[in-house]
Amino acid sequence: MQHLIIVGSTGSIGNSTLDIVRQHPDRFCVAALAAGSNSDLLIKQALEFRPQLVHIAAPDRYQQVRDALVSEGIEVLSGQEELQQLPSRSKGGTLVNAIVGNRGLAVVVNAIEAGKRICLANKEPLVSAGRLVRKLLERHQVQLLPIDSEHSAILQCIQGEDPRQIRRIILTASGGTFRGRRSLSGITPAEALNHPNWSMGNKITIDSATLMNKGLELIEAYWLYPVTADRIDIVIHPQSIVHSLVEFNDGSMKAQLGLPDMRIPIQYALTFPEHLDLKMDRLDLAAIGTLTFEEPDEQLFPSLRIAREALQRGGTYPAALNAANEAAVELFLKGQIEFTGIFQLIEETLANHTSIENYTLEDIFALDEEIHSQLVAS
Ligand code: NAD
Ligand code: MG
Repeated sequence: MQHLIIVGSTGSIGNSTLDIVRQHPDRFCVAALAAGSNSDLLIKQALEFRPQLVHIAAPDRYQQVRDALVSEGIEVLSGQEELQQLPSRSKGGTLVNAIVGNRGLAVVVNAIEAGKRICLANKEPLVSAGRLVRKLLERHQVQLLPIDSEHSAILQCIQGEDPRQIRRIILTASGGTFRGRRSLSGITPAEALNHPNWSMGNKITIDSATLMNKGLELIEAYWLYPVTADRIDIVIHPQSIVHSLVEFNDGSMKAQLGLPDMRIPIQYALTFPEHLDLKMDRLDLAAIGTLTFEEPDEQLFPSLRIAREALQRGGTYPAALNAANEAAVELFLKGQIEFTGIFQLIEETLANHTSIENYTLEDIFALDEEIHSQLVAS
Protein backbone atom coordinates (compact mmCIF):
# COMPACT_ATOMS: atom_id res chain seq x y z
CA MET A 1 0.00 0.00 0.00
CA GLN A 2 1.42 3.41 -1.02
CA HIS A 3 0.48 6.36 1.18
CA LEU A 4 0.34 9.51 -0.95
CA ILE A 5 0.95 13.14 -0.05
CA ILE A 6 -0.82 15.05 -2.83
CA VAL A 7 0.11 18.70 -3.06
CA GLY A 8 -2.16 20.59 -5.47
CA SER A 9 -4.96 18.04 -5.12
CA THR A 10 -7.73 20.29 -6.44
CA GLY A 11 -6.03 21.01 -9.78
CA SER A 12 -5.98 19.13 -13.05
CA ILE A 13 -3.15 16.71 -12.10
CA GLY A 14 -4.39 16.45 -8.51
CA ASN A 15 -7.88 15.37 -9.60
CA SER A 16 -6.48 12.84 -12.06
CA THR A 17 -4.23 11.42 -9.32
CA LEU A 18 -7.24 10.96 -7.04
CA ASP A 19 -9.05 9.18 -9.83
CA ILE A 20 -6.22 6.63 -9.91
CA VAL A 21 -6.43 6.22 -6.14
CA ARG A 22 -10.16 5.58 -6.59
CA GLN A 23 -9.46 2.90 -9.19
CA HIS A 24 -6.90 1.06 -7.03
CA PRO A 25 -8.01 1.19 -3.39
CA ASP A 26 -5.87 -1.89 -2.72
CA ARG A 27 -2.68 -0.09 -3.85
CA PHE A 28 -3.06 3.54 -2.78
CA CYS A 29 -4.39 5.61 0.06
CA VAL A 30 -4.10 9.32 0.82
CA ALA A 31 -2.00 10.52 3.75
CA ALA A 32 -2.14 14.27 3.07
CA LEU A 33 -3.83 16.72 0.72
CA ALA A 34 -2.93 20.34 -0.02
CA ALA A 35 -4.63 22.99 -2.13
CA GLY A 36 -4.48 26.72 -2.82
CA SER A 37 -7.93 28.22 -2.38
CA ASN A 38 -10.59 25.77 -3.58
CA SER A 39 -11.77 24.93 -0.06
CA ASP A 40 -15.09 23.32 -1.09
CA LEU A 41 -13.39 20.74 -3.31
CA LEU A 42 -10.60 20.17 -0.78
CA ILE A 43 -13.18 19.39 1.94
CA LYS A 44 -15.01 17.03 -0.40
CA GLN A 45 -11.77 15.23 -1.26
CA ALA A 46 -10.78 14.98 2.40
CA LEU A 47 -14.14 13.47 3.37
CA GLU A 48 -13.81 10.90 0.57
CA PHE A 49 -10.14 9.93 1.02
CA ARG A 50 -9.70 10.50 4.77
CA PRO A 51 -6.12 11.81 4.95
CA GLN A 52 -4.42 12.44 8.29
CA LEU A 53 -3.38 15.98 7.25
CA VAL A 54 -4.91 18.68 5.07
CA HIS A 55 -3.32 21.99 4.09
CA ILE A 56 -5.11 25.03 2.67
CA ALA A 57 -2.92 27.89 1.44
CA ALA A 58 -5.55 30.68 1.37
CA PRO A 59 -5.68 32.11 4.93
CA ASP A 60 -9.31 33.22 4.54
CA ARG A 61 -10.39 29.62 3.84
CA TYR A 62 -8.61 28.03 6.79
CA GLN A 63 -11.49 28.37 9.27
CA GLN A 64 -14.01 26.86 6.86
CA VAL A 65 -11.79 23.83 6.17
CA ARG A 66 -10.94 23.39 9.84
CA ASP A 67 -14.60 23.56 10.89
CA ALA A 68 -15.54 20.95 8.30
CA LEU A 69 -12.76 18.47 9.05
CA VAL A 70 -11.64 18.75 12.64
CA SER A 71 -14.58 16.75 13.99
CA GLU A 72 -13.60 14.03 11.49
CA GLY A 73 -10.22 13.67 13.18
CA ILE A 74 -8.36 15.35 10.30
CA GLU A 75 -5.68 17.87 11.18
CA VAL A 76 -5.92 21.10 9.15
CA LEU A 77 -2.91 23.34 8.49
CA SER A 78 -2.25 26.64 6.74
CA GLY A 79 0.80 28.83 6.13
CA GLN A 80 3.81 28.65 3.85
CA GLU A 81 6.13 26.91 6.31
CA GLU A 82 3.45 24.31 7.04
CA LEU A 83 3.09 23.58 3.33
CA GLN A 84 6.83 23.19 2.90
CA GLN A 85 6.99 20.81 5.84
CA LEU A 86 3.95 18.79 4.87
CA PRO A 87 5.96 15.84 3.46
CA SER A 88 8.12 15.42 6.58
CA ARG A 89 5.14 15.88 8.91
CA SER A 90 3.08 13.30 7.07
CA LYS A 91 3.35 9.54 7.39
CA GLY A 92 2.97 9.23 3.60
CA GLY A 93 5.89 7.74 1.70
CA THR A 94 5.30 9.27 -1.76
CA LEU A 95 4.91 12.94 -2.67
CA VAL A 96 2.80 13.74 -5.73
CA ASN A 97 3.80 17.31 -6.44
CA ALA A 98 1.04 18.90 -8.52
CA ILE A 99 1.16 22.54 -7.52
CA VAL A 100 2.03 25.24 -10.02
CA GLY A 101 5.26 27.16 -10.13
CA ASN A 102 8.49 27.30 -8.23
CA ARG A 103 6.68 27.46 -4.88
CA GLY A 104 6.85 23.66 -5.20
CA LEU A 105 10.65 23.69 -4.85
CA ALA A 106 10.68 23.93 -1.04
CA VAL A 107 8.15 21.08 -0.84
CA VAL A 108 10.32 18.86 -3.07
CA VAL A 109 13.41 19.60 -1.01
CA ASN A 110 11.62 18.80 2.25
CA ALA A 111 10.33 15.53 0.79
CA ILE A 112 13.75 14.45 -0.46
CA GLU A 113 15.36 15.23 2.88
CA ALA A 114 12.64 13.19 4.59
CA GLY A 115 13.38 10.26 2.24
CA LYS A 116 10.01 10.33 0.43
CA ARG A 117 9.67 9.10 -3.13
CA ILE A 118 8.83 11.94 -5.53
CA CYS A 119 6.31 11.82 -8.39
CA LEU A 120 6.80 15.18 -10.06
CA ALA A 121 4.29 17.01 -12.24
CA ASN A 122 5.48 20.42 -11.03
CA LYS A 123 8.38 20.93 -13.46
CA GLU A 124 9.40 24.43 -12.38
CA PRO A 125 11.62 23.27 -9.44
CA LEU A 126 13.71 21.12 -11.78
CA VAL A 127 14.02 23.99 -14.23
CA SER A 128 15.16 26.50 -11.66
CA ALA A 129 17.26 24.30 -9.36
CA GLY A 130 17.96 21.11 -11.31
CA ARG A 131 21.54 20.72 -10.20
CA LEU A 132 20.65 21.08 -6.50
CA VAL A 133 17.64 18.77 -6.73
CA ARG A 134 19.78 16.09 -8.38
CA LYS A 135 22.47 16.41 -5.74
CA LEU A 136 19.90 16.05 -2.97
CA LEU A 137 18.34 13.01 -4.65
CA GLU A 138 21.74 11.34 -4.77
CA ARG A 139 22.66 12.27 -1.22
CA HIS A 140 19.40 10.94 0.22
CA GLN A 141 19.08 8.02 -2.21
CA VAL A 142 15.60 9.13 -3.24
CA GLN A 143 13.84 8.21 -6.47
CA LEU A 144 12.20 10.94 -8.58
CA LEU A 145 9.72 9.90 -11.26
CA PRO A 146 8.39 12.34 -13.84
CA ILE A 147 4.66 12.79 -14.40
CA ASP A 148 5.11 15.14 -17.36
CA SER A 149 3.90 13.04 -20.31
CA GLU A 150 7.01 13.62 -22.47
CA HIS A 151 9.41 12.66 -19.69
CA SER A 152 7.28 9.66 -18.78
CA ALA A 153 7.44 8.63 -22.45
CA ILE A 154 11.24 8.81 -22.37
CA LEU A 155 11.38 6.82 -19.14
CA GLN A 156 9.26 4.13 -20.77
CA CYS A 157 11.44 4.12 -23.93
CA ILE A 158 14.73 3.67 -22.06
CA GLN A 159 13.65 0.73 -19.91
CA GLY A 160 16.11 -2.10 -20.49
CA GLU A 161 18.45 0.13 -22.54
CA ASP A 162 22.03 1.18 -21.84
CA PRO A 163 21.96 4.97 -21.21
CA ARG A 164 25.31 5.33 -23.01
CA GLN A 165 23.66 4.19 -26.23
CA ILE A 166 21.10 7.03 -26.28
CA ARG A 167 21.95 9.44 -29.06
CA ARG A 168 19.06 11.87 -28.93
CA ILE A 169 15.87 12.64 -27.07
CA ILE A 170 13.03 14.07 -29.14
CA LEU A 171 10.30 15.84 -27.21
CA THR A 172 7.00 16.23 -29.00
CA ALA A 173 4.94 19.40 -28.66
CA SER A 174 1.35 19.94 -29.75
CA GLY A 175 2.30 23.39 -31.03
CA GLY A 176 -0.39 24.96 -28.85
CA THR A 177 -3.41 27.00 -29.80
CA PHE A 178 -1.55 29.33 -32.15
CA ARG A 179 0.30 26.79 -34.30
CA GLY A 180 0.40 27.91 -37.91
CA ARG A 181 -0.32 31.57 -37.15
CA ARG A 182 1.61 34.28 -38.96
CA SER A 183 1.28 36.84 -36.18
CA LEU A 184 0.76 36.76 -32.42
CA SER A 185 -0.52 40.29 -31.95
CA GLY A 186 -3.78 41.10 -30.19
CA ILE A 187 -4.22 37.68 -28.52
CA THR A 188 -6.52 37.73 -25.47
CA PRO A 189 -6.13 35.51 -22.36
CA ALA A 190 -9.41 33.71 -23.23
CA GLU A 191 -8.03 32.74 -26.67
CA ALA A 192 -4.72 31.58 -25.21
CA LEU A 193 -6.48 29.48 -22.55
CA ASN A 194 -8.18 27.36 -25.19
CA HIS A 195 -5.80 24.36 -25.65
CA PRO A 196 -6.61 22.03 -28.58
CA ASN A 197 -5.73 18.65 -26.97
CA TRP A 198 -5.11 18.84 -23.23
CA SER A 199 -7.26 20.11 -20.39
CA MET A 200 -4.83 21.67 -17.91
CA GLY A 201 -4.41 24.47 -15.37
CA ASN A 202 -4.12 28.06 -16.61
CA LYS A 203 -0.39 28.56 -16.19
CA ILE A 204 0.69 25.52 -18.20
CA THR A 205 -1.96 26.25 -20.84
CA ILE A 206 -0.42 29.68 -21.45
CA ASP A 207 3.06 28.07 -21.39
CA SER A 208 1.83 25.69 -24.11
CA ALA A 209 0.52 28.58 -26.20
CA THR A 210 3.90 30.41 -26.02
CA LEU A 211 5.82 27.09 -26.43
CA MET A 212 7.64 28.00 -23.22
CA ASN A 213 6.23 24.79 -21.76
CA LYS A 214 8.45 22.93 -24.22
CA GLY A 215 11.39 25.18 -23.31
CA LEU A 216 10.88 24.30 -19.63
CA GLU A 217 10.55 20.63 -20.58
CA LEU A 218 13.82 20.74 -22.50
CA ILE A 219 15.55 21.87 -19.29
CA GLU A 220 13.58 19.29 -17.29
CA ALA A 221 14.73 16.53 -19.68
CA TYR A 222 18.34 17.68 -19.31
CA TRP A 223 18.20 17.16 -15.54
CA LEU A 224 16.35 13.85 -15.76
CA TYR A 225 18.22 12.01 -18.50
CA PRO A 226 21.88 11.46 -19.45
CA VAL A 227 22.03 13.69 -22.55
CA THR A 228 23.66 17.02 -23.26
CA ALA A 229 21.48 20.01 -24.22
CA ASP A 230 22.42 19.76 -27.91
CA ARG A 231 21.00 16.24 -28.00
CA ILE A 232 17.47 17.23 -27.00
CA ASP A 233 15.31 18.11 -29.99
CA ILE A 234 11.74 19.34 -30.29
CA VAL A 235 9.27 18.32 -32.97
CA ILE A 236 5.72 19.60 -33.37
CA HIS A 237 3.16 16.80 -33.37
CA PRO A 238 -0.33 18.35 -33.37
CA GLN A 239 -2.26 15.16 -32.52
CA SER A 240 -0.50 14.66 -29.12
CA ILE A 241 -0.48 10.87 -29.52
CA VAL A 242 3.29 10.25 -29.67
CA HIS A 243 4.41 11.61 -26.31
CA SER A 244 8.16 11.63 -27.07
CA LEU A 245 10.91 9.54 -28.66
CA VAL A 246 14.43 8.29 -28.01
CA GLU A 247 16.96 7.69 -30.78
CA PHE A 248 19.77 5.20 -30.15
CA ASN A 249 23.28 5.07 -31.65
CA ASP A 250 22.25 2.79 -34.52
CA GLY A 251 19.48 5.17 -35.66
CA SER A 252 16.72 3.04 -34.16
CA MET A 253 13.99 5.06 -32.47
CA LYS A 254 11.52 4.15 -29.74
CA ALA A 255 8.37 6.15 -29.10
CA GLN A 256 5.62 5.94 -26.51
CA LEU A 257 2.05 6.49 -27.69
CA GLY A 258 -1.22 6.98 -25.89
CA LEU A 259 -4.29 9.17 -25.69
CA PRO A 260 -3.62 12.64 -24.30
CA ASP A 261 -4.80 11.73 -20.79
CA MET A 262 -2.49 12.49 -17.88
CA ARG A 263 -3.76 9.52 -15.90
CA ILE A 264 -1.41 7.28 -17.91
CA PRO A 265 1.84 9.05 -16.94
CA ILE A 266 0.59 9.74 -13.40
CA GLN A 267 -0.14 6.08 -12.80
CA TYR A 268 3.15 5.01 -14.39
CA ALA A 269 5.06 7.30 -12.02
CA LEU A 270 3.15 5.86 -9.06
CA THR A 271 3.62 2.21 -10.04
CA PHE A 272 6.94 2.36 -11.96
CA PRO A 273 8.00 0.08 -13.59
CA GLU A 274 4.59 -1.62 -13.64
CA HIS A 275 1.77 -0.90 -16.08
CA LEU A 276 -1.35 -1.53 -13.97
CA ASP A 277 -4.89 -1.66 -15.33
CA LEU A 278 -6.44 1.76 -15.96
CA LYS A 279 -10.09 2.28 -16.79
CA MET A 280 -10.22 4.84 -19.61
CA ASP A 281 -10.77 5.07 -23.36
CA ARG A 282 -8.28 3.14 -25.48
CA LEU A 283 -6.19 4.54 -28.30
CA ASP A 284 -7.65 3.53 -31.68
CA LEU A 285 -4.91 4.20 -34.24
CA ALA A 286 -7.10 3.50 -37.26
CA ALA A 287 -9.67 6.01 -36.00
CA ILE A 288 -6.92 8.63 -35.67
CA GLY A 289 -5.55 7.73 -39.11
CA THR A 290 -2.76 10.25 -39.50
CA LEU A 291 0.07 11.31 -37.24
CA THR A 292 2.03 14.33 -38.45
CA PHE A 293 5.30 16.00 -37.46
CA GLU A 294 6.76 19.40 -38.33
CA GLU A 295 9.51 21.82 -37.32
CA PRO A 296 8.64 24.40 -34.65
CA ASP A 297 8.38 28.01 -35.87
CA GLU A 298 11.22 29.51 -33.85
CA GLN A 299 10.87 32.92 -35.47
CA LEU A 300 7.37 33.53 -34.17
CA PHE A 301 7.85 31.54 -30.95
CA PRO A 302 11.32 32.33 -29.52
CA SER A 303 10.77 30.24 -26.34
CA LEU A 304 12.82 27.22 -27.41
CA ARG A 305 15.83 29.35 -28.31
CA ILE A 306 15.52 31.31 -25.06
CA ALA A 307 15.34 28.12 -22.97
CA ARG A 308 18.22 26.45 -24.79
CA GLU A 309 20.41 29.53 -24.30
CA ALA A 310 19.54 29.73 -20.60
CA LEU A 311 20.41 26.06 -20.13
CA GLN A 312 23.71 26.46 -21.99
CA ARG A 313 24.66 29.55 -19.99
CA GLY A 314 23.95 27.59 -16.81
CA GLY A 315 24.14 28.98 -13.26
CA THR A 316 20.95 30.80 -12.33
CA TYR A 317 19.92 31.63 -15.93
CA PRO A 318 17.27 28.87 -16.00
CA ALA A 319 15.95 30.04 -12.60
CA ALA A 320 15.73 33.63 -13.89
CA LEU A 321 13.98 32.38 -17.02
CA ASN A 322 11.44 30.47 -14.96
CA ALA A 323 10.81 33.34 -12.55
CA ALA A 324 10.38 35.85 -15.39
CA ASN A 325 8.03 33.47 -17.19
CA GLU A 326 5.88 32.95 -14.08
CA ALA A 327 5.61 36.70 -13.58
CA ALA A 328 4.95 37.40 -17.27
CA VAL A 329 2.18 34.77 -17.48
CA GLU A 330 0.57 36.30 -14.39
CA LEU A 331 0.67 39.77 -16.00
CA PHE A 332 -0.72 38.48 -19.30
CA LEU A 333 -3.61 36.69 -17.54
CA LYS A 334 -4.42 39.93 -15.70
CA GLY A 335 -4.53 41.72 -19.05
CA GLN A 336 -1.56 43.92 -18.15
CA ILE A 337 0.76 42.89 -20.99
CA GLU A 338 0.40 41.59 -24.55
CA PHE A 339 0.92 37.92 -25.38
CA THR A 340 4.21 38.79 -27.13
CA GLY A 341 5.13 40.85 -24.05
CA ILE A 342 5.77 37.50 -22.31
CA PHE A 343 8.78 36.85 -24.59
CA GLN A 344 9.94 40.43 -24.23
CA LEU A 345 9.88 40.43 -20.41
CA ILE A 346 11.76 37.13 -20.26
CA GLU A 347 14.43 38.29 -22.71
CA GLU A 348 14.90 41.59 -20.86
CA THR A 349 15.19 39.79 -17.51
CA LEU A 350 17.79 37.39 -18.88
CA ALA A 351 19.76 40.19 -20.55
CA ASN A 352 20.02 42.00 -17.20
CA HIS A 353 20.66 38.89 -15.12
CA THR A 354 23.89 38.36 -13.20
CA SER A 355 24.21 34.64 -12.82
CA ILE A 356 25.42 32.82 -9.71
CA GLU A 357 27.41 29.77 -10.73
CA ASN A 358 27.29 27.67 -7.55
CA TYR A 359 23.89 28.75 -6.36
CA THR A 360 22.23 27.68 -3.12
CA LEU A 361 18.54 27.13 -2.47
CA GLU A 362 18.41 30.50 -0.74
CA ASP A 363 19.79 32.13 -3.92
CA ILE A 364 16.95 30.60 -5.94
CA PHE A 365 14.25 31.68 -3.46
CA ALA A 366 15.71 35.22 -3.36
CA LEU A 367 15.88 35.39 -7.15
CA ASP A 368 12.25 34.30 -7.47
CA GLU A 369 11.15 37.03 -5.09
CA GLU A 370 13.33 39.69 -6.66
CA ILE A 371 12.17 39.01 -10.23
CA HIS A 372 8.54 38.65 -9.20
CA SER A 373 8.50 41.93 -7.31
CA GLN A 374 10.41 43.73 -10.09
CA LEU A 375 8.05 42.59 -12.83
CA VAL A 376 4.70 42.28 -11.10
CA ALA A 377 4.94 45.16 -8.65
CA SER A 378 6.44 47.65 -11.12
P1 NAD B 1 -3.83 23.58 -11.80
O1 NAD B 1 -3.80 25.06 -11.87
O2 NAD B 1 -4.97 22.85 -12.38
O3 NAD B 1 -3.72 23.12 -10.27
C1 NAD B 1 -2.80 23.68 -9.38
C2 NAD B 1 -3.00 23.16 -7.97
O4 NAD B 1 -2.09 23.87 -7.12
C3 NAD B 1 -4.39 23.41 -7.40
O5 NAD B 1 -4.74 22.35 -6.55
C4 NAD B 1 -4.22 24.68 -6.59
O6 NAD B 1 -5.15 24.78 -5.53
C5 NAD B 1 -2.82 24.47 -6.05
N1 NAD B 1 -2.18 25.74 -5.65
C6 NAD B 1 -2.16 26.90 -6.34
N2 NAD B 1 -1.54 27.84 -5.62
C7 NAD B 1 -1.15 27.26 -4.47
C8 NAD B 1 -0.44 27.73 -3.32
N3 NAD B 1 -0.03 28.99 -3.19
N4 NAD B 1 -0.20 26.85 -2.32
C9 NAD B 1 -0.63 25.57 -2.42
N5 NAD B 1 -1.29 25.08 -3.48
C10 NAD B 1 -1.55 25.93 -4.49
O7 NAD B 1 -2.43 23.09 -12.44
P2 NAD B 1 -2.12 21.72 -13.18
O8 NAD B 1 -2.45 21.84 -14.62
O9 NAD B 1 -2.65 20.55 -12.41
O10 NAD B 1 -0.52 21.72 -13.13
C11 NAD B 1 0.21 21.43 -11.94
C12 NAD B 1 1.69 21.25 -12.28
O11 NAD B 1 1.81 20.11 -13.13
C13 NAD B 1 2.30 22.42 -13.04
O12 NAD B 1 3.63 22.60 -12.63
C14 NAD B 1 2.25 21.96 -14.49
O13 NAD B 1 3.30 22.51 -15.26
C15 NAD B 1 2.46 20.46 -14.32
N6 NAD B 1 1.90 19.66 -15.43
C16 NAD B 1 0.55 19.67 -15.67
C17 NAD B 1 0.02 18.93 -16.71
C18 NAD B 1 -1.46 18.91 -16.96
O14 NAD B 1 -1.90 18.18 -17.86
N7 NAD B 1 -2.28 19.63 -16.26
C19 NAD B 1 0.87 18.19 -17.52
C20 NAD B 1 2.23 18.17 -17.25
C21 NAD B 1 2.74 18.91 -16.20
MG1 MG C 1 4.40 17.94 -20.86
